[in-house]
Amino acid sequence: MAGAVFDVLIVGSGAGGGMAAYELTRRGFKVLMLEAGRHYDPLTETPMFNLPSEAPLRGEPTPDKAFGYYDATIDGGWDVPGEPYTIAEGSEPFKWWRPRMLGGRTNHWARVSLRFGPYDFKPYSRDGLGFDWPVDYDEIAPWYDKVERLIGVCGGRPQGLENIPDSPAGCLQPAPPPKLHELLVSRAYASMGIPSSPVHAAILTQQLGDRPPCFYATPCLRGCSIRANFQSTTVLLPPAIATGNLTVRTDAMVYQVDLDKAGKATGVSFIDRKTGAHHSARAKAVVLSAGAGETARILLNSKSSQFPDGLGNDHGLVGRYLMDSVGTKITAQIPALEDMPVTNDDGMSVMHTYIPWWGHGMQARKQLDFPRGYHVEMQGGRMMPSMSLVDWLDDGQGLNGPDLRAMMRKRYGSTVRMGSRGEMIPNDDCFCDIDPKVKDQWGIPVLRFHWKWGETETRQAAHAITTFLEVIDRMGGKPVGPVERDGRKAISKGGEIIHEVGTARMGSTAKNSVVDGFGRSWAVKNLFVADGAVMVSSPDKNPTLSILALSWRTSAHLADLAERGEL
Ligand SMILES: Cc1cc2nc3c(=O)[nH]c(=O)nc-3n(C[C@H](O)[C@H](O)[C@H](O)COP(=O)(O)OP(=O)(O)OC[C@H]3O[C@@H](n4cnc5c(N)ncnc54)[C@H](O)[C@@H]3O)c2cc1C
Ligand code: SF4
Repeated sequence: MAGAVFDVLIVGSGAGGGMAAYELTRRGFKVLMLEAGRHYDPLTETPMFNLPSEAPLRGEPTPDKAFGYYDATIDGGWDVPGEPYTIAEGSEPFKWWRPRMLGGRTNHWARVSLRFGPYDFKPYSRDGLGFDWPVDYDEIAPWYDKVERLIGVCGGRPQGLENIPDSPAGCLQPAPPPKLHELLVSRAYASMGIPSSPVHAAILTQQLGDRPPCFYATPCLRGCSIRANFQSTTVLLPPAIATGNLTVRTDAMVYQVDLDKAGKATGVSFIDRKTGAHHSARAKAVVLSAGAGETARILLNSKSSQFPDGLGNDHGLVGRYLMDSVGTKITAQIPALEDMPVTNDDGMSVMHTYIPWWGHGMQARKQLDFPRGYHVEMQGGRMMPSMSLVDWLDDGQGLNGPDLRAMMRKRYGSTVRMGSRGEMIPNDDCFCDIDPKVKDQWGIPVLRFHWKWGETETRQAAHAITTFLEVIDRMGGKPVGPVERDGRKAISKGGEIIHEVGTARMGSTAKNSVVDGFGRSWAVKNLFVADGAVMVSSPDKNPTLSILALSWRTSAHLADLAERGEL
């Protein structure tokens, strides 16, 4: 690697970086990928079949394993030792989930894969809030088609729902049948005139090439050693490596994009996380895919005489318009689900059915006090028992021995958790910048987050909770634990839903954006951004399928420009 000049250098190996490597190596470019985390091999390192009883605390979440002992996250999470971030004074809380492993968060995401719809790309034109994207749905749709066919997304037949695009024939694999509790929840929503739909998930229900289908028994958050779900490490990096054009260097923490006198990127500077040594790597073009937060940090820390406030930050837009999804949650105990015969209804570990946003008509008639919308995700069924079983017994205090066991058997599988995932409108109070004082263990300045949910989001959260309570009532159940109806208190913390996007948004001019409609930096022509940083809005649909589609399109554009000598 020393002294070599690669065609393209990619920072990060998750959804955005993995997809860029897949496209560029197959187009014949010599690519260097720098990844801050350690090497990770899902085929040998995934504890798919371990029982909770084999883990400390029966696999329950702990501060360093927030999603449980067997979650695939390695060396990362809400806190990364030696790599702090700060929250600005007066800010609402913000949480930043960071992976430090090859493949990033794609190793342990939930795999919900919904397309953004036509309204989602032009929100400002519809209601005067936020901003329009410089691209529309029709432009991105062919890239969604390609991504769904490549990574394998199940979801079944067209539903014909407003602003929920159906995929063309041949893109989606069949949906698995709904789980029992999903039928009950769907029936309750249907009684309120609200339709349900099979979820689209990046999980195979049929063979795809040499990848077998899911066998419906093991938690996807641990990763999948049979490659039935989508991970960058199983689906994108192996074919890229097989071209012979990809060099991967792990434990490489990039902190700056290097420029020549003419203002073109020559490569990046990075620190070897194992030795602490500083290095530089050279390439004819650079793609930043470190995740929305870290990509902004690299840009802001890339200061020079040409860019004293950070690269591409002439108009103060890098780090701005940080967004997450609006989240709420509730758990209910449903007597109708008690005493069910013992069956394995695990299915895919993500839900099979969800409730898409249904309120466009009500909003047009001004019957709702908030714009945009949310979808409802649900969990339940007779999953592998854990210590949190005790949550179901809030009315069973004092039980013990055979009575307690009988109560637990009766209630096992009778709880349903519902959560909303909603659109946030970008606002001036939500952004990240560089903390003027704090540095990480290598002396790199860290990010400082500023956060404030808007009224539109807290009203949306209140609506979700009120609707959940109505649904629970219609199922004949009751909520478990206290219920918070005040949207300002019920809403998730900023960043908590781990859908952080924005920070280097795309746009139609250098004044209103950091990159153009293809993810190419306005300021440095051979620098591209291919992750959630480029997003202009954060629709209620989870972002990763769109990150993949946009990254594929950006990389193909980069390849076209390079082939025409226009970089
Ligand atoms: C538990 C969980 C569930 C989720 N569920 C869903 C879901 O159902 N649907 C959905 O759409 N999304 C989901 N997400 C979010 C999803 O994982 C992200 O949107 C997606 O992975 C983002 O892709 P990315 O390429 O931008 O970042 P990542 O996948 O995070 O990859 C970024 C990579 O860059 C590396 N990196 C960071 N900084 C540097 C640096 N300075 N130098 C070099 N490398 C660096 C990181 O180590 C990482 O490997 C979930 C996330 C989590 C944690
Ligand atoms: S549920 Fe299916 S896709 Fe997920 S880890 Fe298990 S086999 Fe793999």
